[in-house]
Amino acid sequence: MKTVVINDSEEISCDFLVLATGHSARDTYEMLERRGIYLEKKPFAVGVRVEHPQKLINSIQYGIPAHPCLPQAEYSLTFSDPQTGRSVYSFCMCPGGVVMAAASETGCLVTNGMSAYQRNAPYANSALVVTVDGSDFPGNTPLAGVEFQRKWERKAFAVGGSTYRAPAQNLLDFVEGKVSRGVRSSYRPGVVETDLAGALPLEITQALKAGIKGFDRKMHGFLTHEATLTGVETRTSSPVRIVRGDDLQSVSLRGLFPTGEGAGYA
Ligand SMILES: Cc1cc2nc3c(=O)[nH]c(=O)nc-3n(C[C@H](O)[C@H](O)[C@H](O)COP(=O)(O)OP(=O)(O)OC[C@H]3O[C@@H](n4cnc5c(N)ncnc54)[C@H](O)[C@@H]3O)c2cc1C
Repeated sequence: MKTVVINDSEEISCDFLVLATGHSARDTYEMLERRGIYLEKKPFAVGVRVEHPQKLINSIQYGIPAHPCLPQAEYSLTFSDPQTGRSVYSFCMCPGGVVMAAASETGCLVTNGMSAYQRNAPYANSALVVTVDGSDFPGNTPLAGVEFQRKWERKAFAVGGSTYRAPAQNLLDFVEGKVSRGVRSSYRPGVVETDLAGALPLEITQALKAGIKGFDRKMHGFLTHEATLTGVETRTSSPVRIVRGDDLQSVSLRGLFPTGEGAGYA
């Protein structure tokens, strides 16, 4: 490590560089690959975002829709699908929050979620995701997982009508494989009711359906016509690992300290 070049112009000399560009810095991963830095594919998870009335989640968890002494209820759910062998889990649960647009590229659609400090919005949301690994994105390039993300983000954009409105489906409809009941989502700029199976790999759809039924057994009332799914959720953690040694430096460039790919190196 000798120099960092900023914006193709300014050069800064350095012996050590901590690279913390976030798990979706695709341009940086592509640059590192071009420069011969050793990268490898890593598992992550993809799926959808579910939104329930917060009062319904409170009722399931507390037995009452609201109480001044109780915070907005949360949940954390896991399910192991025997058919596909995949793990299905809730992730980034946001009580009293909103579903966020989180795409970083033109023509792609990505969901995420957040709660404001008071957590007092009327809906609770959470990602419902399924593990994916190298067998879902075969190929020699370590960036195959990025291409996999892009493929399904573009598909979601297209299925949503190519206007940055997100594809969405009633939760019960999704599990029953139909589109009939109507949707309600906090996602901005809006949603298009459609079959989300068109925006997800078949095995992920199957695992999600099994997982949602499993979640309903743990949290009775979770599977309801009052909930909406919005997709797609692809940025759970990085699809790429910048391989480093025990000293935390890149195995192919001394002085480079990569960090922040998320689960898998967390
Ligand atoms: C809507 C939303 C809600 C979230 N809510 C929560 C939450 O409630 N709790 C929680 O724990 N996590 C939450 N997260 C996840 C959390 O934001 C991330 O895990 C965290 O920000 C990761 O930190 P980081 O420093 O690794 O990367 P980042 O926060 O992504 O920071 C990377 C930085 O590097 C910069 N960068 C990238 N490339 C370059 C470059 N080439 N040159 C210069 N700068 C560059 C980026 O602009 C960015 O500022 C949320 C994420 C989103 C999108």
